[in-house]
Amino acid sequence: MLIVLRIYLSNQFSIEEHLNEILTSLKIYQYKIIKRSIDARNKAKIIIEYRLLLNEKDGINILNLDEGKKKNLLIQSIKSIEKIDYSYEEYNFNDVLFIKNKIKRREREVKKEKEERAVKVEEVDKLNRINYQNLQKSKNRPVIVGFGPAGIFATFAFLENNISPIIIEMGEKVEDRSKTIENYIKTKKFNKHSNINFGEGGAGTYSDGKLYTRSRDEVNAKIYSTFCNFGAPSTILYDAYPHIGSDNLIKVVSNIRNYFEEEGVEFYFNTKLIDIEENFEKSHEGRWRLKFLNFGQSKIKDLKSVYNLKNYKIKIDENVKYESEDEKNIFEINSDIVLIASGHSCKDIYKVLYKLGAKLEPKPFALGFRVEHPRVLIDKNQYGKFHRFLPSANYKLLFKGKTSNIYSFCMCPGGVVLPSNSEEEEIVTNGASKYLRDGQNSNAAIVCSISNQQAKQFIEEFNNNFLIRLKSFAPIKKSLSFEVGLVSKNLIKLNLDSNQISIEIENNISENQNNFIKAMKESIGKINCFDWEINLITQQIFEKLAFLFGEKNFSAPFENISDFFMKNTKDDERIDDGFYYDEKNNPKIPTTYPFGLYKAKLLKLFPLNIEDDFKAAFKYFDKIINGYIEHGIAVGYETRTSSVIKVLRNSEGEVLEGIYMIGEGSGYCGGITTSAVDGYKIASILAKKL
Ligand SMILES: Cc1cc2nc3c(=O)[nH]c(=O)nc-3n(C[C@H](O)[C@H](O)[C@H](O)COP(=O)(O)OP(=O)(O)OC[C@H]3O[C@@H](n4cnc5c(N)ncnc54)[C@H](O)[C@@H]3O)c2cc1C
Repeated sequence: MLIVLRIYLSNQFSIEEHLNEILTSLKIYQYKIIKRSIDARNKAKIIIEYRLLLNEKDGINILNLDEGKKKNLLIQSIKSIEKIDYSYEEYNFNDVLFIKNKIKRREREVKKEKEERAVKVEEVDKLNRINYQNLQKSKNRPVIVGFGPAGIFATFAFLENNISPIIIEMGEKVEDRSKTIENYIKTKKFNKHSNINFGEGGAGTYSDGKLYTRSRDEVNAKIYSTFCNFGAPSTILYDAYPHIGSDNLIKVVSNIRNYFEEEGVEFYFNTKLIDIEENFEKSHEGRWRLKFLNFGQSKIKDLKSVYNLKNYKIKIDENVKYESEDEKNIFEINSDIVLIASGHSCKDIYKVLYKLGAKLEPKPFALGFRVEHPRVLIDKNQYGKFHRFLPSANYKLLFKGKTSNIYSFCMCPGGVVLPSNSEEEEIVTNGASKYLRDGQNSNAAIVCSISNQQAKQFIEEFNNNFLIRLKSFAPIKKSLSFEVGLVSKNLIKLNLDSNQISIEIENNISENQNNFIKAMKESIGKINCFDWEINLITQQIFEKLAFLFGEKNFSAPFENISDFFMKNTKDDERIDDGFYYDEKNNPKIPTTYPFGLYKAKLLKLFPLNIEDDFKAAFKYFDKIINGYIEHGIAVGYETRTSSVIKVLRNSEGEVLEGIYMIGEGSGYCGGITTSAVDGYKIASILAKKL
């Protein structure tokens, strides 16, 4: 029987203990939580709502509770839900919770209880795992490029169909990747192949591990239970806003890889897909020739084992010129089936696909910054005086502006702001938290939606208004130059000469191939680019300027949110006479961004109408969360909330015959859960055809 139980938050028990107290007093010892959510609309009477699966007898027992007992147990309401499509008996009770009749009443113990909830992932229950047998290893073995959520769940789908794929991953194994990231934070030594974006586990490995998605796909539950079987906390099975936490994610990814290896999946780490060519050699099987660059740490010799397989040919190029000493090998695999699961940050992949004739489109995207607030401010606002008894609070904000929607994204309660760049010379912010979410600050991205048309306008006004905006953004201390574009290359120079600032843009086409030049669209402003490159260029301008103005030391531009409203000229118009910051203006709260901050006027890089929308949005947000303006800082820029490019694919995920694009990089999905679902579904359909 499915029961909806709503209980008032108690100031004596933690939320787990309170449920235990109620059920034990009713002698209900076996139950399953299907869903848990917090209703904090009335902060004086916060309610925890559970959907519980009980057996018939216990269900009737609880429904018949008398009013007096309900009151004593702080129960607001109990009702049953009639229509459910599974019964108590059928349900898999592997993770049924057995109640411990142990009630701790003091706040000190509540804290301890919270710590215990941080699941120890070392001991992973292997019972729920399937052992795949008779794997088909020698025919039509698919190659998966990228081992993030999409690549991981595509692998599960292939294994379920007795097919063992080959996995190529540019970054390091998650254990080594963690050390590399730690080193980056300590020394600013950036590894362009293995970092917060790239490496085993994908972009979200060092994240909050939020799994919430608005999509109600039936595969979502499978994704959650699979994560759980490999060490994620069981709360993700029922919390309304489930999260795994970066501390757990690292171990979960490692457990999944170990399991796949046991099942015969072949991994090549530190290996980047650099090109795909059509294979015209009749003697070679496999439609596509995939070219990989290995950075020397994988055992390239192992690849020779693949020689024995039908459809795969490997050529190790002894004469290749390496980019650096570390890059030891370029090799090729010929294959008919390639699944590209490379995420949205490896831009070279788009270039390769474009060259092969795939159709690329610009996709509306979002631009903004991370805001940080003291965690306790957010918690008190959301939960009132009971915040100490509840997990760190979340929020979701939306303001419909005149030009653009301004909204919060990827909120990380008790989390940190991370340098999430994927290239050497750029600043990109993102957020992460541990499972307990107990850090000093809570952060979220606040972004504006940018339509394809708006991205075009950004580029169009680059030469005139943009210079004014730039001078207002931060002091220009020296001449700067940087390149934007992917297929088309645009060199942007900011010349500082006798206090005169001018912008020069030189277009040069890096690919000296006729079809590229022929296909070049008319120039937009002075920047030449393809339609699908426009968004990428807008994104790059924000990322590179933030880096260059920070003296190239990875410090990020910041502004106190209250300073968004500082009036400089009579009508708070944007200024064209230089930068006007008060030097004493320090961040109002200590940031968690590791490389330090420099002062800037963050809104000035946006067109005026969007700047106005941001300001109006913050005034509105401040009404919802008291102190949001006064106690918040903004750190720039958040540019990678989703893919800015869509690679057109057919209903089965194919972008070119035999080449499939799965996960976030395709532009069809975004976030951990939907990327995992996408990879799983596309590989499942494909596997049945092999
Ligand atoms: C710091 C941070 C925090 C985030 N927090 C959350 C969150 O809490 N919740 C959420 O839902 N989403 C979050 N995201 C977004 C989420 O991580 C992505 O949406 C998701 O990982 C996309 O999955 P994917 O498998 O499509 O691609 P990715 O996870 O990006 O994986 C792509 C993989 O391909 C590899 N690769 C790339 N190019 C090549 C190549 N040429 N050759 C070989 N390998 C290659 C990369 O190294 C990477 O491992 C966060 C992202 C970041 C960066």
